[in-house]
Amino acid sequence: MTACSSGEDNSAATDTSNETEETTSETKEESVEDSTEEEKTEEAAEETAEEEEAEEEAAQAEPLYRVNPANSSVEPIADANPQAVLITIDDAPDKQGVAMAETLKELDVPAIFFVNGHFLDTDEEKENLKKIHDMGFAIGNHTYSHANLKTVSEEQQREEIIELSDLVEEIIGERPEFFRAPHGVNTDFSRAVVEEEGMVLMNWTFGYDWEKQYMDAAALADIMVNTEFMRDGANLLMHDRAWTAEALPAIVQGLDEKGYDFIDPATIEGIE
Ligand SMILES: [Zn+2]
Repeated sequence: MTACSSGEDNSAATDTSNETEETTSETKEESVEDSTEEEKTEEAAEETAEEEEAEEEAAQAEPLYRVNPANSSVEPIADANPQAVLITIDDAPDKQGVAMAETLKELDVPAIFFVNGHFLDTDEEKENLKKIHDMGFAIGNHTYSHANLKTVSEEQQREEIIELSDLVEEIIGERPEFFRAPHGVNTDFSRAVVEEEGMVLMNWTFGYDWEKQYMDAAALADIMVNTEFMRDGANLLMHDRAWTAEALPAIVQGLDEKGYDFIDPATIEGIE
């Protein structure tokens, strides 16, 4: 058995249809409260500092990796280290998102947090997204309401993608640079919207934390490190879940001991 090539086929470790995720009721809010003048001044100061950082980074920003569109593995360009994996956290920021970001930050491991609009309704939730972004993590678009894009109209597909990017931009000042469809289900139309938006599209190569026997930190850490699907360039799917948050340090340690590096999303081709 090989890891699925399309990301939509079924196999034990990559069965995207088994992704047990909460179906949160749609609570779209069109408007976000305007920030106060005081906040705007603070933001302006932060932006200046951020621009300076961005300029420094731009000087050395040659992409090192690219996502293989056929299987979502992350492959080195030129002489980047091939023995590396990408960590991604979906359905964020729910209850564990900030804690998971803090854990990864402490371990100095980069990651993408793929977020949904229904986790960004309240000021507290918006603040959580800001915290994750401020810790240096990439923010990805996982659609507004976690819709299966094959089951909604083209107009709704566009809204699911664009309205979330708009909301993320209102909160952190930049649009997501990565896109992952709920359940890994893309359509020709949604792919075109993602491309228009300039986002890098990916599914994943394996993940386990939605399967019953791996809703346990020790079992999850063991399979994430020792699975037969582990290979160079693996794109690891995890979720904003309590057992996954608990397993994260052991997963990172296990992969590190096996000699894997952790890919910085900022070095992936297609990111500006
Ligand atoms: Zn999801």
